[in-house]
Amino acid sequence: MNPFSYERAVDASDAVRRGAMPATKYLGGGTNLVDLMRETIERPQKLVDVTGLSAKIAEDSDGGLVIGAAARNTALAEHHLVRRRYPMLARAILSGASAQIRNMATVGGNLLQRTRCAYFYDDDGSRCNKREPGAGCDAVGGFSRNHAIFGASPSCIATHPSDMAVALVALDAVVHLQGANGERSIPLTEFYRPPGDRPDLETVLEAGELITEITLPAAPLAAWSDYRKVRDRASYAFALVSIAAALTVEDGQVSDVRIAFGGVAHKPWRAWRAEEILRGARATADTFSAAAETELAGAEPLKDNGFKIELLRRTMVATLGKLTGDVA
Ligand code: SF4
Repeated sequence: MNPFSYERAVDASDAVRRGAMPATKYLGGGTNLVDLMRETIERPQKLVDVTGLSAKIAEDSDGGLVIGAAARNTALAEHHLVRRRYPMLARAILSGASAQIRNMATVGGNLLQRTRCAYFYDDDGSRCNKREPGAGCDAVGGFSRNHAIFGASPSCIATHPSDMAVALVALDAVVHLQGANGERSIPLTEFYRPPGDRPDLETVLEAGELITEITLPAAPLAAWSDYRKVRDRASYAFALVSIAAALTVEDGQVSDVRIAFGGVAHKPWRAWRAEEILRGARATADTFSAAAETELAGAEPLKDNGFKIELLRRTMVATLGKLTGDVA
């Protein structure tokens, strides 16, 4: 591990002031960042500990939810409002990592965790544009079973590893930021940058900008929602594919729906096209399948991950079927 200095921020303004120096990283639970520092893939010169900042989880005046970026994943998953109003979010968090890691990891840090592409971590022998811009990408043409089917570029085909972020994208979460130029808010759907030819630039965060809060709008349909994750083993594995979905049905027709996919792109993938087809349609397995096929028509599978298309179609049909009471 490279030498670095450590400071602890007392509030967001203090953190931003301390984070102004180049090569500074904000430290949440450290469950990904510290691993990467040990591997010398991340080499910050200074860490600003932001775990003492807002960790509140509370209802806002519009009936939505305010989540402080320093809230621990476990606290969010166990919160009574999350369990009752946004069960897909609780389930997504609980499907990720171990209890010990969830106890440490913060919500802000979770959004910023980096891909688990094996070539990214292999800094002894593999080329990786995300680790070293311009170096090349050994995953392209390499073993691509876990990689993206949406949104990839010739420079990077990695996926985003977060489960929690998939549910947050389905729930129309907004990320609130504070930086040297003030505060701003961005829908989570617009927070992650496409890889393009600079896959090392993963989000729209500016230098020194800090995530302070995440907000969720009130979403009555989310009270009947689910998160389903398909992976190689039952625990401690990242998603091959996953889906966060909420659905309401009136008189046999879908009145509203939210769907996002995980494990398939550089960001949680909001299934806008599938949602559009489903709204107003009959709530049947055939409709769910047709909606999935429409969304998946835009997929561009690699040589080892074409299976994700059918796996995701089946997972979506099963998840929506469960939400409509067909548990088959
Ligand atoms: Fe690096 Fe992306 Fe290529 Fe993986 S897919 S080796 S993260 S550039």
